[in-house]
Amino acid sequence: MMRARRQERADALVKAFAKVYPEAHCELGYSNPLELLVATILSAQCTDKRVNMVTPALFKKYRTARAYAEASQEELEKEIQSTGFFRSKAKSLRAMAAGLVAKHGGKVPRRMEELIVLRGVGRKTANVVLGNAFGINEGVVVDTHVMRLSRRLALTSYAEPEKIEKDLMKLIPREKWADFSHWLIWHGRRRCYARKPDCDACEVQHLCPSAFKAVKPA
Ligand code: SF4
Repeated sequence: MMRARRQERADALVKAFAKVYPEAHCELGYSNPLELLVATILSAQCTDKRVNMVTPALFKKYRTARAYAEASQEELEKEIQSTGFFRSKAKSLRAMAAGLVAKHGGKVPRRMEELIVLRGVGRKTANVVLGNAFGINEGVVVDTHVMRLSRRLALTSYAEPEKIEKDLMKLIPREKWADFSHWLIWHGRRRCYARKPDCDACEVQHLCPSAFKAVKPA
């Protein structure tokens, strides 16, 4: 019974969000798979807006995987400093790029198994690249917004990203996986804030079991 209700809610949310955010898309700036992979690595613990301030100059300077692989750690650190955790991000970028050069002729692979073995690339990053740069729905991107909203909308009761992703993959039609995570991310940024969700103005309030309840920050 509960499962059936959850599925009904998921179906209704897909319809509702498609109308509310028809233009939803990845808000990181990129023009090819390598740029998106780099931007996604930089976006850990950082806003897309800040990443987008850094990447235009970075993408102009480093046009290939080899260019990142051969970059000096110090120089790269300086260039990405404002995104935070710059030492480990610079290390990840150089090692990830070296992996692309060594195993994939400098190209970004299109398979989950090949992406997640690259340094700094987890399932979330791989899903971002597959879903947005290649249009391949291999999984659902579960970031902090998707985690919080999936729980508030009672699409999952889990707190772990991998388990939330499995629940969403069961509930949402595969062709909508990339869209659905964009919708939750957009809604999380524009309406369903972590601390004080704007339930009064929420477009999916009628479908939300957490509407107007004291919602604990997820
Ligand atoms: S009703 Fe409130 S808690 Fe539910 S999705 Fe909308 S803003 Fe978030």
